[in-house]
Amino acid sequence: MAPLLEVRGLTAAYGALTVLHQVSFEIAPGSITTLLGANGAGKTTTLRALCGLIDRQGEIRLEGRPIQRARTEDIARAGIAQVPDGRGTFQSLTVEENLQLGGISRRGARAIADDIERFYTLFPRLRERRLQQAGTLSGGEQQMLAISRALMLRPKLLLLDEPSFGLAPMITARIFEILRQVNETDGTAMLIVEQNAHLALGIADRAYVLETGEIVMSGPAAEIQADEKIRASYLGC
Ligand code: ATP
Repeated sequence: MAPLLEVRGLTAAYGALTVLHQVSFEIAPGSITTLLGANGAGKTTTLRALCGLIDRQGEIRLEGRPIQRARTEDIARAGIAQVPDGRGTFQSLTVEENLQLGGISRRGARAIADDIERFYTLFPRLRERRLQQAGTLSGGEQQMLAISRALMLRPKLLLLDEPSFGLAPMITARIFEILRQVNETDGTAMLIVEQNAHLALGIADRAYVLETGEIVMSGPAAEIQADEKIRASYLGC
């Protein structure tokens, strides 16, 4: 099957500091891929490069179409939605306004209203807090909102930067369960950047490990999860 996303020789720098060196990977349609690696390995930078938020060189293709020169808003319109670290909700807007904004580029008021209802059913806390400003939500609720808002775009590919960061294990487990559910029912492909390798390998089909800006290993997530030696050498867990 042709890949949904194909990245070849991706290089990115902050000024004179090159932090991604010829990074290549693929994401199959409808699959969950995780990008693992220690602090500073370049995971967030990879997501930023995919969304056109920093200058990058190399080839990025979405369904075969080159997007490496596209603007961030066109990349979103082409079907890539991002849940940035630090969550990225509009803090002074209400939960419901955030969800409505997520669907702003879509047509069909009925379908948008149905989707908002769907996320309220998946995350009842968001329904309870629908008229509350996003900035007043707990960390877990903000993460639920950020994910729902990104999914309101009905993306082909959802990029998530450390969705477990700073959250209690029970909340993280619930969020990951819903990600899996959305992946299964809608076929939304996901790229999850995580420092919590166990958690990410538990949900992913395929994993890539990034070390100082280079992919040093990749394979089926279940195989990496089951291989103690690989985990110890590459993931320290
Ligand atoms: P973390 O989990 O800590 O976020 P990461 O794997 O996501 O790590 P990046 O945030 O992509 O790593 O950072 C990769 C490298 O780029 C690091 O050396 C970091 O210090 C550097 N870096 C990140 N953002 C900037 C920036 N805005 N300006 C300059 N250097 C940066």
